[in-house]
Amino acid sequence: MRIRKIITKKLIFLFIILNFFINTKIYSNDFNNILENKNYYNIASSSVDLGEKVFHELEVKNEEIFSHNSSNDMNKCFDIWKCIKEIVPSKYLNYISKFELYTDGYENTLAYVTSDINRDNKWMICVDINDSFKNDGVLNERIKETIMHEFMHIITLNNSQMDNSNTSKTYTIAEGKLKEDAILNDFYNRFWSKHEDYVKKEESIKPYSEEYNILTNNFYSLNKDEFITKYASSNPVEDIAETFIYFIKSDIPLDNSIKSQKIRFLYTYTELIDIKNFILNNCKTTL
Ligand SMILES: [Zn+2]
Repeated sequence: MRIRKIITKKLIFLFIILNFFINTKIYSNDFNNILENKNYYNIASSSVDLGEKVFHELEVKNEEIFSHNSSNDMNKCFDIWKCIKEIVPSKYLNYISKFELYTDGYENTLAYVTSDINRDNKWMICVDINDSFKNDGVLNERIKETIMHEFMHIITLNNSQMDNSNTSKTYTIAEGKLKEDAILNDFYNRFWSKHEDYVKKEESIKPYSEEYNILTNNFYSLNKDEFITKYASSNPVEDIAETFIYFIKSDIPLDNSIKSQKIRFLYTYTELIDIKNFILNNCKTTL
């Protein structure tokens, strides 16, 4: 499961961390049971149970959402789906087979994507209904950034980027072994290979455990200048997803900082430039 946390204020951050320690249960022994029940697997090597409550699970067919049950919240589902369609072009919308509306309360996880174990290269996108709307019922602006982040996970982790039979030493994650020319493999070689020891350690520790928080906080404080956000410093997968938001929303940065080099790196892919133009055309008044 690839999640993006929204941490707007230090106090909220502290609250979240406390909340994790007090209320969360790390999936471990019972992980396989959860897999069987949901028919989905978490695409990260480990994940955190956020006390999620599911409101709707909708089928996606021909780029539209369908529900067997009527509900007062259907308009909210359509509002969020419309927003997703403004960000995700047809080619990738066809990778999405399920759309889930859930909540884990306010803040915490705003959205995540997970791949469908039963369907080749199909994904489920899950969005927190409480965090998606402001009090006046209008969509929250940050939902767009979050969808961009999740969309970049689909771009960089879908089957076209993986090749498990590949014998070269490419970046390998829970989802599989990346192709030599995969976007994320290239990103890793350029910006993360020097942090190989940290990457291995981060992958091996239970997320949000005390040890994990110490490791990731130390890594961020030593390498702050390389990252667009603190969350980006978690690992290469999150780094490229966070960088993608800035690639979409800002002009080409000209300075030589590593974080700007990362944004410029995304410009070397024509497909990503096309996606940027697609999003800007659809959302020009709201980004
Ligand atoms: Zn993520």
